[in-house]
Amino acid sequence: MKQQFAVIGLGRFGGSICKTLSDLGHEVLAIDINENKVNQYADIVTQAVQMDSTDEQALRDIGIRNMDHVIVAIGDDIQASILTTLILKDLNVPYITVKAQNDYHERVLAKIGATKIVHPERDMGVRIAHHLLSKNVMDYIELSPDYSLVEIKAGEKMVGKSLLELNIRAKYGCNIMAIKSKDGLNISPKAEDVIQKDDILVVIGANKDISRFEENEGA
Ligand code: ATP
Ligand code: ATP
Ligand code: CA
Repeated sequence: MKQQFAVIGLGRFGGSICKTLSDLGHEVLAIDINENKVNQYADIVTQAVQMDSTDEQALRDIGIRNMDHVIVAIGDDIQASILTTLILKDLNVPYITVKAQNDYHERVLAKIGATKIVHPERDMGVRIAHHLLSKNVMDYIELSPDYSLVEIKAGEKMVGKSLLELNIRAKYGCNIMAIKSKDGLNISPKAEDVIQKDDILVVIGANKDISRFEENEGA
C-alpha cells in the first residue's frame, strides 16, 4: 500500500529519508524553512514546500492532516521541533516520528505524544563502535540494553560443521536465527545444517553470550 509521508527538516537525516522513501515509490511531501533546501529536493520528492512548520495555519493549509506519517527531522532548533510535534499531534496526524537531540528533548516529545522518537547519531555511534571492536561483526541491532541481534562472519573452525556439532545454544546460550550463504538466506536453520566458508550468521542473544561466541567462533 502506498503511503503518504511528509518530512519536515531537510538536513542530512531528513534528506536521506526523503530520498529513500521516494526511491521506494512513496509519495513524499518535503518541508523546510530554508528555500535552498527546498529547491535541492524539488526534483526528488512529490512536492517540496518552503514554510515554517511552527506556523499552525500553514501546516493546515498544505493538508498535513491527510498524511499517514510525518517525520520531524529538525535538529538544532529544539523549540521548533517540539512545537511542530505538538501541532501535528493536535491536528491528529496518526503517526509522528521525531528526531531527538538529547534525553530532555526526548522526554518532552514523549509527553506530547510523539509516536516514535529516534536518536540517529547516538544509535549509529553505538553500531559503529561495535563494528570497530570486531571485524567479524557485520551488523548490530540493540534489542534492549542486554540483548542484541548481530550478524557475525563464521570463523574457519566452524566451516564444515553442523549446528548440532557446534552445539552453540548449549555452549553459548545464543540462537542462530538465520544463515546467509552464497546459496541464499536460510531463515530456519536446522540442527543438521552445515556452515560453509564465508557464511554470515544472524545471532540473537544476551550481549555477554554473543561476545563469548564471537571471540571463540568468529572469523
Ligand atoms: P542533520 O544532522 O540531519 O544534517 P541537523 O541536526 O544539523 O541535521 P538542522 O540543520 O538544525 O539539523 O535542521 C535540519 C533542517 O530543519 C534544516 O534544513 C532547517 O532549515 C530545518 N528547519 C529548522 N527549523 C525549521 C522550521 N521551523 N520549519 C521547517 N524547517 C525547519
Ligand atoms: P553530530 O551530528 O554527531 O551531533 P555534528 O555533525 O553536528 O555532530 P559538530 O557539532 O560540528 O558535528 O561536531 C561534533 C564535535 O566535534 C563537537 O563536539 C565539536 O566540538 C568537535 N570538533 C569540531 N571540530 C573539531 C576539531 N577540529 N578538533 C576536535 N574536535 C572538533
Ligand atoms: Ca547533526
